[in-house]
Amino acid sequence: MTEPRDLLRRTAEIAADYLESLEERPVFPRTSPDELREALGGPLPEEPLDPAEVVGELAEAAEPGVVAIGSGRYFGFVIGGALPAALAADWLTSAWDQNAGLYVGGPSASVVEQVTRDWLLDLLGLPGESSIGFVTGTQMAHVTGLAAARFHVLDGVGWDVNREGLTGAPPIRVLVGEKRHVTIDRALRFLGLGAPTTVAADEQGRMKPEALREALREGPTIVCAQAGEVNTGAFDPLPQIADACEEFGGWLHVDGAFGIWAAVSPRLRHLVAGLERADSWTTDAHKWLNVPYDSGIVLCAHPESHRIAMTVSASYLIQDEGARRVRDQVDWVPEFSRRARGFPIYAALRSLGRSGLVDLVERCCGAASRFAEAIAELE
Ligand SMILES: *Cc1c(COP(=O)(O)O)cnc(C)c1O
Repeated sequence: MTEPRDLLRRTAEIAADYLESLEERPVFPRTSPDELREALGGPLPEEPLDPAEVVGELAEAAEPGVVAIGSGRYFGFVIGGALPAALAADWLTSAWDQNAGLYVGGPSASVVEQVTRDWLLDLLGLPGESSIGFVTGTQMAHVTGLAAARFHVLDGVGWDVNREGLTGAPPIRVLVGEKRHVTIDRALRFLGLGAPTTVAADEQGRMKPEALREALREGPTIVCAQAGEVNTGAFDPLPQIADACEEFGGWLHVDGAFGIWAAVSPRLRHLVAGLERADSWTTDAHKWLNVPYDSGIVLCAHPESHRIAMTVSASYLIQDEGARRVRDQVDWVPEFSRRARGFPIYAALRSLGRSGLVDLVERCCGAASRFAEAIAELE
């Protein structure tokens, strides 16, 4: 049997060879599902195999079906590659194999999340007391943020959804832009909130604030706005939306899967003016921050509601100051056992630094503008 050190060295070589091939290889693989089944399939071996053999064969069989997402020539969707520091920290995360649900499952995994929270709130200009949860992607970040919203708006009318459920509860009105991302609808379905009421959007997909105003009523309300429409890049007008939510007492949830990162750039920050007035925010680290999959983040301006919506502990209250310093991640996300996702995010932020992150965002937008201009010239 190959020793672990040798196995990891050999695997690192395979991974490095792959990364070096990114500039040359076709972006989308030239293979078929049948070819891949042929290469990867066959019966499960009866006997154990040497790990180096397993990994070597896997790499050979799977690589022809790998999309070069990390290549500079990949322009699909709004998805990112992997910064070297984030990739390496992700390997360490696997080697350490912490159970990041509880402080006792990995104290450093817990603390690194708190540190990353402080950095993110500072970078994004969000209220300093906001809470954080590290999840698989914006999809589950929506589930978490909207669960906090559901608890909070019902609590506001004296209904404890944790105890009483939704049967017989005062109805919650959920208002979403016509061009919201599909993950919002699925999160609402998971939470038993049904199909939302849609608010008209303009030709760029921006929610129309006057239409929102007309749809708003008193009573438990959640409004889902968007910072970055996935097809156009447009931002909902957050100042007017926040005004309307404040007036009617609605919870404002912002889907910032990729667009929230505009907040770090002095040149682009105007797009997310009013962002800090929302009640919950979601984003991905695996998109613009270039952290390996899977990595989503939820932030919430109401830590109590966030925790009550997610906690597994019998007591709803954040205990004393001593207990507060020990953060069990399980209290802030839907998962129980999970991967220590804080490490690669921490590494990504440190390796970029503030200026590197600003540069990343501005350079990417600059390149997108050049694309747009070149396409316009073709017409
Ligand atoms: C990608 C995206 C999502 C979903 O994020 P996942 O990480 O895939 O769960 C939601 N909203 C917007 C605007 C997105 O771009």
